[in-house]
Amino acid sequence: MEPMNDVAIVGAGPAGTSCAIALAQRGIRTTLIEKDAFPRYHIGESMTGECGNVVRALGLEADMQRLRYPVKRGVRVFAPDGDHSFWVPVMGRDPDGGLLDATTWQVRRSEFDALLLDVARARASEHVHGEATGVLGDGDTVSGVRVRADGGRETEIPARVVVDASGPACFLSRCGVTGPRQRGKYDNQVAIFSQVRGSVREPGEHSGNTLIFYRETNHWAWFIPLDDEVVSVGVVVPSDHFRTYRLPKEDFLRKAMRELNPNLSARLEDATLVEDVRTASSYSFEISDYTGPAHLCVGDAHRFIDPVFSFGLHFAMVEGQLAAAAIERHLAGEAADPRRPFLDYQNTTTRGMDKIQDLIDCFWQRPVQFALVVHQKHREEAIDLFAGRLYDEKPSGALMAIQQILAKSRGELAGRS
Ligand SMILES: Cc1cc2nc3c(=O)[nH]c(=O)nc-3n(C[C@H](O)[C@H](O)[C@H](O)COP(=O)(O)OP(=O)(O)OC[C@H]3O[C@@H](n4cnc5c(N)ncnc54)[C@H](O)[C@@H]3O)c2cc1C
Repeated sequence: MEPMNDVAIVGAGPAGTSCAIALAQRGIRTTLIEKDAFPRYHIGESMTGECGNVVRALGLEADMQRLRYPVKRGVRVFAPDGDHSFWVPVMGRDPDGGLLDATTWQVRRSEFDALLLDVARARASEHVHGEATGVLGDGDTVSGVRVRADGGRETEIPARVVVDASGPACFLSRCGVTGPRQRGKYDNQVAIFSQVRGSVREPGEHSGNTLIFYRETNHWAWFIPLDDEVVSVGVVVPSDHFRTYRLPKEDFLRKAMRELNPNLSARLEDATLVEDVRTASSYSFEISDYTGPAHLCVGDAHRFIDPVFSFGLHFAMVEGQLAAAAIERHLAGEAADPRRPFLDYQNTTTRGMDKIQDLIDCFWQRPVQFALVVHQKHREEAIDLFAGRLYDEKPSGALMAIQQILAKSRGELAGRS
């Protein structure tokens, strides 16, 4: 058995490493357990404005510039005709509450995740290469992690707090510690994606922006620049639709790149695929009760909604920071309720994810009304939502307008049935 750690973190994706770095900034030692050898491919490349601010708070801005990651100034969403669009800039808030121009980044995840792990290791986090296979402790009270290290050697890592940052593997749920994994609303979707060279981007300083192409409900595509030449391109459709075509994934992607939206096809006319074509499905899920006396889940380990507005990295990294603050309070004996030391963390992070669930539901259920709210009626507050300023208890005017649209839509549906 290893000596007692303050914190054991399962998973060295952005949720686990940003939590480890934020804990190191507070003088708290962690052990990061990761089963994959880095660098490794991962999807999820576009950041919100607030996620960019976490990168800055972790002291990584110079690394982002050195690695020349594309600067993202906003997202443009194209209508099915490819001509009409709405634009949401990345903007911050000054101390007096006014909006100011801001930027964030797009990242190539193989490099970015390896960078975060290197930084975590350099700043007082031990890295164990192995797979977490079970928990130590009794019932609800977890006291460490069992790990199968390289070569099959079994180790036990005792810890005062266990953080589950295992992404969609949902380690603590599989161990029966948290609630079960429930299917999310967008569970019947499939994403087919790759990377291309030779595409046409937005001009000038907007060349690093995210572009979204809408076709019809639940049919869409993304276009996310990864460096000066390569762009990540993916299409997302209902799984039934994908199966109907009976095409190999490469052929399906090429066909969708030509046909999904005229604006996208024009941009990809001379483009060539430079990465394997991959798919992801059944990615929308939720886990209840994801904190306890000595454990908490961060990022995808407890919920993933839908990739359309690029909130995965945001939740991973912002929750990593929130978790670090909650762990620091708990270890210092300052938690409001020592039996549920992470309840505030759970309430805050659920509130943030619920807001994005409403944003995405409204986009899919009532796209025209959604565009009016975001682009005209509540533009400034919609910019806040897209930037990831999500954790206030009081809902903003934009969120209330979105919730009213959703309530009306539910009423109409109930009236019809
Ligand atoms: C199609 C698609 C497109 C997306 N696009 C975007 C986007 O544009 N922008 C965005 O922000 N997000 C996007 N996402 C979401 C993004 O990929 C995730 O939200 C993000 O990677 C979550 O980070 P994480 O650290 O929580 O989990 P992960 O990045 O999945 O990291 C979890 C880590 O835990 C490790 N692990 C798992 N189990 C164990 C175990 N038992 N023991 C040890 N290690 C373990 C894994 O190997 C992995 O390295 C997209 C997702 C999908 C499906």
